[in-house]
Amino acid sequence: MTKSKKDTSVFIYDVIIIGAGPSGLTAAIYASRARLKTLLLEGLSVSSQALVTDKIENYPGFPEGINGFEMIGKFKKQAKLFGTEFVAEDVNTIHPSKWQDTNIWQVDVKDKTYHSISVIIASGAQFRALGVEGEKRLLGRGVSYCAVCDGAFFKDKNVVVVGGGDTAAEEALFLTRFAKKITLIHRRDRLRATRILQERIFSNKKTDIVWNSVVNEILGETKVQGVRVTDLKAKKETDISCDGVFIFVGLVPNTSFVKDIIKLDKDGYVIADSKMKTSRDGIFACGDCRQTILRQVVTACGDGAFAAFSAQQYVDELKGTAYK
Ligand SMILES: Cc1cc2nc3c(=O)[nH]c(=O)nc-3n(C[C@H](O)[C@H](O)[C@H](O)COP(=O)(O)OP(=O)(O)OC[C@H]3O[C@@H](n4cnc5c(N)ncnc54)[C@H](O)[C@@H]3O)c2cc1C
Repeated sequence: MTKSKKDTSVFIYDVIIIGAGPSGLTAAIYASRARLKTLLLEGLSVSSQALVTDKIENYPGFPEGINGFEMIGKFKKQAKLFGTEFVAEDVNTIHPSKWQDTNIWQVDVKDKTYHSISVIIASGAQFRALGVEGEKRLLGRGVSYCAVCDGAFFKDKNVVVVGGGDTAAEEALFLTRFAKKITLIHRRDRLRATRILQERIFSNKKTDIVWNSVVNEILGETKVQGVRVTDLKAKKETDISCDGVFIFVGLVPNTSFVKDIIKLDKDGYVIADSKMKTSRDGIFACGDCRQTILRQVVTACGDGAFAAFSAQQYVDELKGTAYK
């Protein structure tokens, strides 16, 4: 029997997309519809922010609003229809492949490596922690970063929401379905949230706002019992008793796995141009993980379309199939 030669060939995708939020799924729809061999790697340890959003009412075409979980399901279905392959894995690293000196990127997950001509990073962002005493200890015991996930546990309870942006306002309003009282604590004397949300917060009988104040400790041993708050103007410390604390004080991009490969800004967001090109040829970025001034579903989708289009042009150039 002759000894068979070891098969060293690898399957090479045209594009690998990292992330299954609105940006990654839109990129997948565009890429697979353009007949690129498309693989989407969707993270296991972090989920899409849209997935945990109860109601998205500013995405065109849904005058009654749409639940985030339902929306992501529809996006996924559309990407699958055009041929996108899905694998649920966290990406650990991306690096240039040593395989035959080609312009191929290698994408490493836990026990496997995928190869692709281009990569689209659509890994989004996650909530920033407050970084105060008690926050870690009481996580899941009254401390939460997701009202849609945990709100129902607080039926007829008193909760505190920390933050003053759109997400804090939306989540506070969502909590009014369950909680008896919601106290919004904001470090400034006005909210950053969009006007329509402010109006809803101000007119809701269940919501109350503590202005110019910061939470510096979450109180309780085995479950949340309150928050210690400093009034920045009066320079006075008070305790507010509550059963839950929902924290919405900004985002941290999910980009640590590419920090050594492409340029990030000082906050860790990917620097990409208007065509979603990053500092490395063949790597594109879109959505909330990108340095931008507006992070929404509609902007993430727009970014995703651009990223897929740019990836397609890049792949065509390399393969010599570009339309000239
Ligand atoms: C409570 C809340 C309410 C909101 N309300 C609205 C609203 O009303 N309207 C609106 O337009 N926007 C809203 N947003 C914002 C909107 O959800 C985001 O702008 C949008 O989800 C960004 O899409 P994205 O694809 O960039 O990232 P995301 O949707 O966050 O998706 C990121 C994806 O990347 C994956 N991922 C991360 N790291 C890795 C890794 N290492 N390997 C593999 N995969 C990885 C995750 O699993 C996820 O699938 C809201 C957000 C929140 C949290």
